[in-house]
Amino acid sequence: MTSATNILIDKFGRVHNYLRISLTERCNLRCNYCMPEEGIVLRPRAEFMTRSEVIQIAKIFVALGVKKIRLTGGEPLVRKDAKEIIEDLSQLPVELAITTNGILVDTFIETFMACGVKSINVSLDSLKEERFNTITRRNYFSKVISNIRLLMQNNFHVKLNAVIIKGMNDDELVDFIEFSKDQPVHYRFIEFMPFNGNKWDWSKGCSYDEVMADIHAHYGNNIMKIEDAKNDTAKNYRIKNYKGTFAIISSVTNPFCDTCNRLRLTADGKIKNCLFSNSETDLLTALRNRMDITQLIRNNVWDKKASRGGMTTFEDYSNPTLHEQNRAMVAIGG
Ligand code: SF4
Repeated sequence: MTSATNILIDKFGRVHNYLRISLTERCNLRCNYCMPEEGIVLRPRAEFMTRSEVIQIAKIFVALGVKKIRLTGGEPLVRKDAKEIIEDLSQLPVELAITTNGILVDTFIETFMACGVKSINVSLDSLKEERFNTITRRNYFSKVISNIRLLMQNNFHVKLNAVIIKGMNDDELVDFIEFSKDQPVHYRFIEFMPFNGNKWDWSKGCSYDEVMADIHAHYGNNIMKIEDAKNDTAKNYRIKNYKGTFAIISSVTNPFCDTCNRLRLTADGKIKNCLFSNSETDLLTALRNRMDITQLIRNNVWDKKASRGGMTTFEDYSNPTLHEQNRAMVAIGG
């Protein structure tokens, strides 16, 4: 295990410089593939990182080579001191990005601009209002759409995320792509992933191949492969002459773990070295006990599994016993 340099490296030689921080487990939506029907048990505030603890831990990760921080949730913007946390983090030498459901974006747009936040991912699983309301169990469709337009009017780099599920929204792939025709949005189609409580069943999932087959059937030779960025989770494409792009994130059928550079800090201050890892290290308690958490972080990263938290085969990945040991998606932040 290397402890000399300020980089976070695992035993497979992957360098980790991208930290996703979940600010809260609370959300103002109830998306059926993320949040268990009955919601999740909300825990006492004392179990969660305070504003200053978020900054203290983030600073330690930056000292260990983190170059990019993405804020997630639940829904990060529902946290009362989210504005202050964004302002504090914007003082660090990192690229700051946000993943949001878009509902509160209009109340944060000034802060985003003042803090140099340029990249915003917004979840939008349907372009049909009624269906959106069914998926999210809330009716914020027009608010989300108008906030996406607001982001684009202000030249933010907007990525839209849709989890593609058979019988739910797999018939909207062309509509999603047409949404990127005259506006520079990047629509990403995410394979349905297993988490605690989301009743995952791959027969409802749409694989990379199935999605591409549908898109190909409609656009044929007008589909152009565009270069994927280093460490990219998505396979990116553009339709000829379209302003926007689309991409597929295929953790189920085509995982991209070889180049993984991502770590997660949960809202209750635990480090997860993989979205699917069941083992976490409690940094918050150690921090509160005035311990140096640097070695805890290094050890956790070093112990990272090659792929999907050790669920390498599809059989492992499909084993509900393993999923149920992980958290609900809302308590990880994707
Ligand atoms: S499944 Fe885990 S190891 Fe693979 S890309 Fe995602 S976070 Fe990284």
